[in-house]
Amino acid sequence: MRRLILVSLIGITIIMGSVYYLNNRKMLFLVEHAKMEINTEFHYKKYIKEVVNGKKSDVTCQSGKLDITKLGVYEIIFNYRGRDYPFTIEVVDTTKPKIKELMKLNVLMNTEVDLNKGMEISDDSGIYPRVTIDSSQLDTSQVGEYIVEYRAQDQSGNVSVFYRKIHVMKEIGTSQQSQDKIVYLTFDDGPSANTKKILDILDRYDAKATFFVTGNGKEYNGYINEAHERGHTIGLHSYCHEYNIIYSSMDAYFRDLTKLENMVEKIIGYKPRYIRFPGGSSNKVSIKYHKGIMTLLTQKVIEKGYQYYDWNGETGDATGNHVSVETLIKNATVKNDNNIVMLAHDTDAKDTTVQALPAIIQYYQKKGYVFKAIDDQSFYAHQSLNN
Ligand SMILES: [Zn+2]
Repeated sequence: MRRLILVSLIGITIIMGSVYYLNNRKMLFLVEHAKMEINTEFHYKKYIKEVVNGKKSDVTCQSGKLDITKLGVYEIIFNYRGRDYPFTIEVVDTTKPKIKELMKLNVLMNTEVDLNKGMEISDDSGIYPRVTIDSSQLDTSQVGEYIVEYRAQDQSGNVSVFYRKIHVMKEIGTSQQSQDKIVYLTFDDGPSANTKKILDILDRYDAKATFFVTGNGKEYNGYINEAHERGHTIGLHSYCHEYNIIYSSMDAYFRDLTKLENMVEKIIGYKPRYIRFPGGSSNKVSIKYHKGIMTLLTQKVIEKGYQYYDWNGETGDATGNHVSVETLIKNATVKNDNNIVMLAHDTDAKDTTVQALPAIIQYYQKKGYVFKAIDDQSFYAHQSLNN
């Protein structure tokens, strides 16, 4: 009898124990010391190691307290077959800040440099990292290439370093007229059927000039090379010379300029840095296509290492075709500045410009002027902006 009771007790204990075990045994196993990167999506299934007698999709999760935008440790509840499984996850930041150079920085000698310009620095935490810029190598009093170090550290101590190349340039040209008496004859819109005649006249008077060329006279492109070889300067005017295109945006302007400089490079072997804006920098026509475009472009071209040239004297051949020779000579021979940048045109229709040229040259040579081609030291005769 006593034996029976003992056996029964053992049996009951085993059954109760088994029931207790079956009810309380862990059916869900989760990752321990779980971590996730800040500002990334929380996928709870990633943290399930094992689901006993079930699938990951049978598990539910209440992630209510989790804030993926803030570093910290969060308590989360997983639930499987009616039972809660507490889980802790740490939101961490292990990704380095991003440092991106959006534009090359070219600066002019002896000017203030804004080292933040054209840089994009960010962190995946959304909190702007601590940025230090080491520009101790940069010397704006000397032309050259310099390395500036950008260091960004986020709140978790991740560090990124970026070495930026900065180009210190000397501005081409000068706003000051020199003491020497110089005429810079400039011909826009060529090459044309008249280029050859112009070159011959210039040679006859031992005069040098500058040709601001376009892409509209390709059959005469050989004269671009001839002008270059005879010692004249080739400058950039515009490839298409359509105001509505080139002045519609900064991008459009530089697309056109790039096309032209590539064309010229193929002819003379390098890209000129001298520019003349169609209509000059003071033109008002461009307002129709983009308000403020000349203000933007005049800065941008210099930043990019070009110089633009306007004029302080003109033949007046821009007013129309076949302006009389007498009028052209009269227009052109009224100046007495030390440095005269003279506007003239080189197109098929400007025959009278060619005819007026000898008298204009003679007039100034008699007064002691020398006719020079534009170079890096030349007076650039900037006009005041109207747009
Ligand atoms: Zn033009």
